[in-house]
Amino acid sequence: MRYAVLSDIHGNLPALEAVLDRLRRDAVQRIICLGDIVGYGASPNECCDRLRDYDLIAVQGNHDRAAVEPGEERWFTPAARECILWTREQLTRRNQVFLRSLPTQAMTPEAHLCHGSLFDPDYYTTNPFEAAASLERMTLDICFLGHTHYAEWFAQAGESRLPVQHTAVMGAVIRLEAGRRYLVNPGSVGQPRDGNSKASYAVWDTEARTVEIHRVPYNIAAAQDLMEAADLPWSMSARLSYGT
Ligand code: ZN
Repeated sequence: MRYAVLSDIHGNLPALEAVLDRLRRDAVQRIICLGDIVGYGASPNECCDRLRDYDLIAVQGNHDRAAVEPGEERWFTPAARECILWTREQLTRRNQVFLRSLPTQAMTPEAHLCHGSLFDPDYYTTNPFEAAASLERMTLDICFLGHTHYAEWFAQAGESRLPVQHTAVMGAVIRLEAGRRYLVNPGSVGQPRDGNSKASYAVWDTEARTVEIHRVPYNIAAAQDLMEAADLPWSMSARLSYGT
């Protein structure tokens, strides 16, 4: 099976379209989404609608939850709060039901799927110590997570050892070795923060035992124009140019 693994789309339709275009060439059978389909960007409904066209396995991110649960935005920065309040007003009834229906964790036969960690969807997994807390909860050899908007992975050779952290800012090919456990972050489609402004996603091939992380250029100015037209915070559209 070949899966596309997408995370943190954040209502950025030009970025999502660029990734979906690539998926035709990648010959994937299913799409995994690790949450935060909405929030920040100007196209929350379009992003939900486009994903639903596919054979999708998705989990709920903190922005997806806040978009349908008033009060959850109190944890957000002022600019993020402004975006989520706007998003909440835009969402169609159908997409409210869709986002509310998403589980906080899911599994395929081969992998765990979550937003931030295997014990708290809002937890940021940024270093080997934080990664170890999810690795010790795994019953399968691979777990995909998002939330930090950094493309990277952690590999653990033995249960008693700290995992090794590898960056994938420019893309990567991960060869999954028997006897090791992996925590893989495919990076963010719609708001990368790892210094590379290109959209990030992964292709996971369960037979070849590889995960490829790809970076795709997209029309950033188009995403910024949509945000400006929606009167969303300037700081949130400006950061797309820099991948921060
Ligand atoms: Zn996010």
